Amino acid sequence: MSTTTDLPLPTSHLPPPTFHYPVLIIGGGQAGLSMSYCLKQRGIDHLIFEKNRIGEAWRSQRWDTFCLVTPNWQCDLPGFPYPGSDPNGFMKKDEIVGYLESYANSFQPPVREGVSVSRLNRHPSGKFEVLTSIGEFTADQVVIATGGYQISALPRMAERLPKTLVQMHSSLYKSPDSIPPGEVLVVGSGQSGCQIAEDLHLAGRKVHLAVGGAPRTARRYRGKDVVDWLHDMGYYSKPVHEHPLKERVRAKANHYVTGRDGGRDIDLRRFALEGMQLYGRLKTIEDNVMDFADDLPQNLDNADKVAESIKDTIDKFILTNQVEAPTESRYTPLWQPDPGPRQLDLAHSNITTVIWCMGFSTDYRWIELPLFDGKGYPAHQRGVTTIPGIYFLGLPWQYTWGSGRFSGVKQDALFLADNIEARHTAPPTPVAQKLNELALGNQPVTQAFSLWVSRAFCPCLQ
Ligand SMILES: Cc1cc2nc3c(=O)[nH]c(=O)nc-3n(C[C@H](O)[C@H](O)[C@H](O)COP(=O)(O)OP(=O)(O)OC[C@H]3O[C@@H](n4cnc5c(N)ncnc54)[C@H](O)[C@@H]3O)c2cc1C
Repeated sequence: MSTTTDLPLPTSHLPPPTFHYPVLIIGGGQAGLSMSYCLKQRGIDHLIFEKNRIGEAWRSQRWDTFCLVTPNWQCDLPGFPYPGSDPNGFMKKDEIVGYLESYANSFQPPVREGVSVSRLNRHPSGKFEVLTSIGEFTADQVVIATGGYQISALPRMAERLPKTLVQMHSSLYKSPDSIPPGEVLVVGSGQSGCQIAEDLHLAGRKVHLAVGGAPRTARRYRGKDVVDWLHDMGYYSKPVHEHPLKERVRAKANHYVTGRDGGRDIDLRRFALEGMQLYGRLKTIEDNVMDFADDLPQNLDNADKVAESIKDTIDKFILTNQVEAPTESRYTPLWQPDPGPRQLDLAHSNITTVIWCMGFSTDYRWIELPLFDGKGYPAHQRGVTTIPGIYFLGLPWQYTWGSGRFSGVKQDALFLADNIEARHTAPPTPVAQKLNELALGNQPVTQAFSLWVSRAFCPCLQ
């Protein structure tokens, strides 16, 4: 057996094994995949690191009956518009995962699943260093597509709940059968809180819901889905700097509404009439007693006010643009709180489970680059950061309302791809290409090449 190689044998002072790519993408959700598609179209060599599986957030952080709140036609990833037969419907969890898997199958992105990135910093040479669970890589440019929802927000007061109660964040809730029998307290009335409360309520569980200040919207109005109207009125293409709240809009809660069973309103007043116990915002927990603010009436009124103001805007649009649309009577509140209980004594209740639905925050501790603002938010313009070659993709309201969702990630990915292409220089050398293929494990490695690599980088093995 021959042990010779036609590659030059490197000497021992060569650097330790690193693998270089023109572009590395961190995160294999819809944003990372969209970025990969756009780079592939431009012939730019790159690799995605995904710490779990592609589309992981949709697989493991959603409950069993989860379905999209936005209509299917808004699923418009680059090169892959919604392929199904129900554009006005709302895909269920498994269908969303299927959509992302079909997307990946359609263009075969270079992705390493099960590889997490634990550090991103800059080498004095100017290249970016990416430390992963399979070793160190370098890149000329890096796209951070790790999503806007990484850390489950849990208030410290959760620590004061009695140990006998089961408590979890909304991202861990699966189904009514997956939690202990008994009554359930849901804290938070954003999209997740309201939908989880509904899921339990429909399953016949007694639900207690602490209602916060999230707005709501009607599902349909005057013959169309509200998302279709908002789209027609240009709300999804308005850039963040043109929004009246400017960048502050990024911190706003989403409107609650559901896509369940073909889509409908979520009316907490109706749930109350049907037996759900509503409270105001949760203030404290002291000696097993939960204290709520007296803002339940105000929170319900404000949510309705927002829903009605969206209808006002639609009416105005219809009138100004002479759109043909049926008329529709306005909402009248079905129920009024009086003003709602202020306390809940857990010791004397049948509550067995508390589900915290207070959203998420981001975790950028692994990014060792000075690109954050005073609040720890990445300073960027449309995802292009203050450090040339570092980009973000998929942030909520990164550029438009759709940026952090299926509808807007395409235009952001295309924009970043143009920026990346403008900075992109030479194609990889044959040796770098071989090393990358070896790292990926998706190319047959010749015995000669293995030997060359082991001699070059692993002298202790010889
Ligand atoms: C409850 C909920 C409901 C939503 N409903 C809708 C809806 O109806 N319609 C809509 O359009 N949008 C919706 N969204 C918003 C958005 O579409 C999702 O949040 C979507 O998952 C965002 O995709 P992404 O690729 O930006 O991020 P993610 O899907 O979060 O993907 C990021 C990926 O990065 C990986 N990752 C993270 N850190 C690392 C690391 N250090 N190393 C390697 N990999 C890493 C993760 O494993 C993950 O797979 C919803 C969001 C939530 C939370």
